[in-house]
Amino acid sequence: MALDPQLLEILACPDTHHAPLDYDAQAQTLTCTECGRVFEVRDDVPVLLLDEARGGPAAADDARGGSSR
Ligand SMILES: [Zn+2]
Repeated sequence: MALDPQLLEILACPDTHHAPLDYDAQAQTLTCTECGRVFEVRDDVPVLLLDEARGGPAAADDARGGSSR
């Protein structure tokens, strides 16, 4: 089942840039067009939480060990 296109239009990244999201119906994910974070869609409900997101700038920091801050 696909997400409602009207719902998709109002969805935005929860980060401060509030960029639009790319919906992948196959993977059931939403990808931020700005920061590249990937948000899961669970039971047709987008999980727009930074804590739950995969990828993006935060993940790159983690890969380096996060010792800079
Ligand atoms: Zn974003």
